[in-house]
Amino acid sequence: MSGNRTFTMIKPDAVEKGHIGGILNMIAEGGFRIVSMKLTQLTVADAQQFYAIHKERPFFGELVEFMTRGPIVAAILEKENAVEDFRTLIGATNPADAAEGTIRKKYATSIGENAVHGSDSDENAAIEGAFHFAGREQF
Ligand code: UDP
Repeated sequence: MSGNRTFTMIKPDAVEKGHIGGILNMIAEGGFRIVSMKLTQLTVADAQQFYAIHKERPFFGELVEFMTRGPIVAAILEKENAVEDFRTLIGATNPADAAEGTIRKKYATSIGENAVHGSDSDENAAIEGAFHFAGREQF
C-alpha cells in the first residue's frame, strides 16, 4: 500500500531565480497539503548524507556543491499516493525529457540544476522528512 506523504526540496537554482512562489503554487494546484516547510541551507555534510546513494557517481561532487550553494525550501507534503503523484508532478530528472505541465519542464535548466527534489519511495520520504523536521514540526 502506498503512503500519503512525500518530501520535497525547492533546490538552490529555483530559489535563486525567485521561483519559490510559482513552484508552491503548482504544488497546491496539484492537490498537495503542506505538512511542514522551511527555508534552510544544507551543509556539505548534510548534502553528502542526503545524496549518499549517489556517492560513487561521477556527478556527486558537483551535486553536493550545487545543493549547498544557497538556500533551499524543504517541505513535507500530503496527498493520497503522494510519492508517485509528486514524481509525476515534478517530471523527469532531465528537463529535456520532462512532460509539459511538470515543474521541471517549467523551471529546471539542466539534469543537475533541476529545480526540485521528490522522494522516490515511501521509505525514503519518511527518512528524508525526518532528516529535516522534528515530529512537533509536522502539522
Ligand atoms: N543529477 C545530476 N546528474 C545526473 C543525474 C542526477 O547532477 O546525471 C542530480 C540531479 O540534481 C538529480 C539528483 O542528482 O535530481 C538525484 O538524482 P536522481 O537520479 O535520484 O534523480 P531524481 O530522483 O532527483 O529525479
